[in-house]
Amino acid sequence: MQIGIVGLGLIGGSLALDLRLQGHQIYGVTRNPSTAALALDQGVVNRAGKDLALLSSCEVIFVCTPIDAVLPTIAALARVVGTESVITDVASVKGAIVPQAEVYWPHFVGAHPMAGSAEQGLGAARSGLFVGRPYVVTPTQQTRQVDLDQVVSLIAALGARLITLDPETHDRACARISHLPVLVSAALLLNLEAAGEPGAEQLASSGFFDTSRVGGGNPQLGRAMAEWNQQALLAELDRYLEILQSLRQTVAGADWLTVEQSLLKTHQIRRRVFGSDS
Ligand code: NAP
Repeated sequence: MQIGIVGLGLIGGSLALDLRLQGHQIYGVTRNPSTAALALDQGVVNRAGKDLALLSSCEVIFVCTPIDAVLPTIAALARVVGTESVITDVASVKGAIVPQAEVYWPHFVGAHPMAGSAEQGLGAARSGLFVGRPYVVTPTQQTRQVDLDQVVSLIAALGARLITLDPETHDRACARISHLPVLVSAALLLNLEAAGEPGAEQLASSGFFDTSRVGGGNPQLGRAMAEWNQQALLAELDRYLEILQSLRQTVAGADWLTVEQSLLKTHQIRRRVFGSDS
């Protein structure tokens, strides 16, 4: 199959690597000539260039640009691709993208792989990124079954775990497990700085490495998640602040039994979410 990828960064590059390994012809579009040269040199893609018309004969096209460039890219693709081409995206928000994308292109299938890293760009791309990870598709009443089936079969071949949700449910869930944690983790780093006592940094080890990871990631992506999923994120922030305030009260009141009971509950929740190895 001929597959197009717009945006040869972390996610686009990782998709290209795995899909090419499966024998597909991969055509990549990047605005940057040095990224195109690198992608060809490293065998990430079969062809690369900056013109979206390069993808005119592709059967499926993955839009892997930053969130704010997804809709303009789909509108531009609609002017150059074949009438039956399926376009899918990987953006971390869906409610603000899917309905308009369907207006631009009838063969659109919204999607979001739940895999990534704190790095960005083609250099961060790696094979196997999606294995065992959730990969959400967000079909609507407009989605054609044949288009959905094509995207789903490519996702399954990546070794990802397929999950089907409507765009709004996806956005509420992502606000809870991804977009809120970015801000919480960022707040830990800001707190380290705000305390104004540099010595603590020397003690930072595996625990702080884990808890600060998503807050220290791609700033543009973090901003876009907040901007494009604002209402769902605000609801999560409000609930989170209530919980934090209640934990503060137990500490202030020296209610150590409640502190321990809360942590016993969170211990169990984490094992439920990630299994007994967590
Ligand atoms: P990235 O590594 O920065 O890659 C984005 C790519 O898009 C770059 O290769 C860049 O390449 C291109 N690009 C940048 N601005 C553009 C513009 N205005 N128009 C067209 N292309 C542009 O970012 P990423 O982490 O792969 O994220 C890409 C998408 O994946 C986002 O929509 C994000 O929500 C989603 N996502 C990210 C993660 C994650 O953890 N990072 C996880 C799941 C989904 P050139 O400058 O070479 O053109």
